[in-house]
Amino acid sequence: MHCALGKTDFYNDVPFAGYYDNFKIYACTLTEKEIMKKQGIITIDNDEEAVKKAYQQFSIKYDGGLKIDLPKYTIEGVKVKYTSSDENILGVSGYVYPDANKHEVILKATLSRGDYTMEKDIKITVNPQKNINTKISETDFTKLNYEESSLYEDMMKVNIDYMFTLDVDRLLYNYRRIANRPTLNSTSYPGWISPTSNGAGQFETMYVGALARYTLSMPNYIGKDGSTPLSRLRYMINEMRACQESYAINNPQEKGYFGAIDIKCFKVIRNGGTALGDGTYSWVPYYMLHKNLAMALDVYTYVNDEAIKKTAKDILIDACDWVYQEVSSMSEQERNNVLNFEFGGMTEVLYKVYALTKNTNYIKADHFFEQESLLNPLYNNINVLPHIHANTAIPKILGCASAYEATGDEYYKTIVINFYNMVRKMDYANGGLGINEFFEDEGITTLGNYSEETCCSYNMLKLTDYMFRWNPDSSLIDYFENIFYNQIMCSMDPATGGKTYPISTAFGYYKIYSTAETAFWCCCCTGQESFSKLTYGEYYVTNDKNLTLMVNLFNPMSIKLNDQLTVKQTGDILLDGKSRITIVGDGKLTLNLRVPSWDKNPTLKINGEEQTYQINNGYITIDREFSNGDYIDYEFNMSYRLDKQKGSENSYALFYGPFMLVCDLGNKDVYDIKDNQSDFGLPYDGDKVNYVVFDDHDVTNHLTKENNNGTLRFTMKATNQELEFIRFMDCYHQRYGMYLYYYFDGDNPSNEYLIEGEKVKYDNKFDIYKTNNSTNVSINDSSIDIDNSSEVKLISNLSLGNEFEIGATFKAKTSNEMMNSGIYLFAKNASSGQDKINALNVQIERNANSSSATVKIHKFNQAYEGLYNSCQGNVKVNSDGSVSLRVIVKDGYLYVLANGSIAPIIKTKLDKNYSGGNFGLRSQFSNVSISNIYYIKK
Ligand SMILES: [Zn+2]
Repeated sequence: MHCALGKTDFYNDVPFAGYYDNFKIYACTLTEKEIMKKQGIITIDNDEEAVKKAYQQFSIKYDGGLKIDLPKYTIEGVKVKYTSSDENILGVSGYVYPDANKHEVILKATLSRGDYTMEKDIKITVNPQKNINTKISETDFTKLNYEESSLYEDMMKVNIDYMFTLDVDRLLYNYRRIANRPTLNSTSYPGWISPTSNGAGQFETMYVGALARYTLSMPNYIGKDGSTPLSRLRYMINEMRACQESYAINNPQEKGYFGAIDIKCFKVIRNGGTALGDGTYSWVPYYMLHKNLAMALDVYTYVNDEAIKKTAKDILIDACDWVYQEVSSMSEQERNNVLNFEFGGMTEVLYKVYALTKNTNYIKADHFFEQESLLNPLYNNINVLPHIHANTAIPKILGCASAYEATGDEYYKTIVINFYNMVRKMDYANGGLGINEFFEDEGITTLGNYSEETCCSYNMLKLTDYMFRWNPDSSLIDYFENIFYNQIMCSMDPATGGKTYPISTAFGYYKIYSTAETAFWCCCCTGQESFSKLTYGEYYVTNDKNLTLMVNLFNPMSIKLNDQLTVKQTGDILLDGKSRITIVGDGKLTLNLRVPSWDKNPTLKINGEEQTYQINNGYITIDREFSNGDYIDYEFNMSYRLDKQKGSENSYALFYGPFMLVCDLGNKDVYDIKDNQSDFGLPYDGDKVNYVVFDDHDVTNHLTKENNNGTLRFTMKATNQELEFIRFMDCYHQRYGMYLYYYFDGDNPSNEYLIEGEKVKYDNKFDIYKTNNSTNVSINDSSIDIDNSSEVKLISNLSLGNEFEIGATFKAKTSNEMMNSGIYLFAKNASSGQDKINALNVQIERNANSSSATVKIHKFNQAYEGLYNSCQGNVKVNSDGSVSLRVIVKDGYLYVLANGSIAPIIKTKLDKNYSGGNFGLRSQFSNVSISNIYYIKK
């Protein structure tokens, strides 16, 4: 029997965040009634009496919305079951499916306990569906044109050039394989979309979705083989439809299924499993399925070709019918099994298909994927996001945005807005989210080299677009613009079209790009779409009373509003913060110019004359009858500013206008990855450090700018070092520092990490004993020598509530390398194997033939859990081959400082698991001598 309290062995289970009063173990299985009695739920023993009392009090409240809460139990442990007089309007699970008319539905509640039953009829009035008017529409790609030669157009071309190097028959391989159609002697690509990874379909479909956008944004592009976006798309979508039809003929009971993975993957997770019969992992099948549906919807939406539109719609409707058939036959247990696996934006697409068809089956399928355990707390503004997988959660919220647009139900809108506000308290300076793909606690960001998954940024732009259409407030575009310039525009290698997956926020790492034909990560999938629509978000148009153009971004691009009017934006905000808006044609137009948060006081001139203006909702409104050739000059003051790292005192990212700047740390040991390896780079091995000290309080005084043939470079002169900065979007194949510690006015930062208290030096004052291969450990008066794989435990009761510091100097005795040597904390006083339960290892990993080492935090729970929050830092090795660590616990944070540095190389929040224990020293793989050991206790 397997029992767990607080946390199970499932790898993605998180610890219970609370306290237990007590718990009891019984020698026999209690009945439901006995349990309820013990909990005080049942006070009346007689069933009839209890049901009658419950009947008196039982009622159901409904005040609109798409869900009625139908409790399965009421008072006295009385069970309630429901039937509905019209299940098409009100389902027995409480979902409401409104249509154009008003309906009175009788909900019959059957109350029972033991053998006694009573029925109660409740009349529910369902009002006609409310339609929201989103008013502002993202402008049609065909009306947009880049002006002059622009960076954006260049990047869109790099992306499509890369896409056209791929072979469409290889991309179709897995669809044909699943459908038993000829594969034309081609083979599958490897990596995430290989047949054995069960991840096929995600890249291929987003490839088609990107082509759909290119049929509008670059319709005249011709590849080396003479193909165009439209011809490639037509070939692929027709073949995909043929695969779906073949599959239906071969498997009539699964008609409509459409995918590049074995349908068994869906059945396995439904039954609570993870592995297929052949031993491969079934992974996340509904995530793949969502990509298939989204592709069909995108092609239907964007491609101006009736035959292709029809094919896409046929694929979509048949596939959605299969989804409905599959999920509507599932039990609650099977549903829970399925919802445990990432399922992308299933709800987003299904609501859109419902809006398209008005077939309520798709709403019912949608409800299946609405995860109450996530959505209800978010609705109530309870932040349940910490420690959940970021990019699993965001598409579920996109589903709520889509639900709100399809139904007008405010429940979903509230979730979206609450979620957005929570996420804004958990992001990095450039809007990136998550470390090791997971959300952290509110108000905390930990730096690491595996942070900011690019898919999250792609999805957050989509969410911002929804919200802006509901409420066109320029603060949403401040966020959009930040992600656009400082994440999306930074996520592709301009030389190859390779995409980033995580982006490092830790000092000294570099961007790792996907290979052309062996990676196909999730972020390559979303990345190719991002670079097919760089026009996204710049302009929005409302056309209700007056023709209004909202100018959100200031990249050189024109928009054709109608046959009379075109608005052209020229200039290069990237370099000088200036934009000129020229009107081509005559006519009445309202222009809303965004006033960005980084300059609330721009200069506005119309036909050369300076204007005064008022700002509403973050916009300047110019409402006039324009004549051909009228022009508006809009100029920004591109000032410097620091954006504080959440949860850190002195750590900031530097911005110039809308652009995040990073310090240039050279390109030593920067290399491209060879295949689909999980490689996040070697640590920095240079002379620059992660902090700057100034004698005054204004960083602007210490910065100078240089325009080097269109590339901006900035020099920062600090007291301790001189650093070069570049825009993050110009940073390729080189090491960088996104955040630095800033110390102003001659601040003495070492005070911040000072622990006042008794300093106990190692001189046998510690209670010492050895674990593991203890015979290989020799303890002298001033130092400890540890041979391979040994540990020395220095007993001293540590508690998370205390402030303390532990320090030691580590030196490899026999080689240049130091592997997994360091300090472990909070180890319990138990037998050696269990010592490490809830212990943290702060360990040094020295690289061969390098003068730098990495310091990493590893976590031990019941099993080794690897990098804690995936944070790590770099340290230069001293000339004698040693590394000194100061490990400080203060206010629930862990700081690591090394070799006398005044700024931490790691700062991370500790969780409640580290309640108390001892510390020790260890050396796992190498011979190490440890000296200068001390412990400061407050
Ligand atoms: Zn991704």
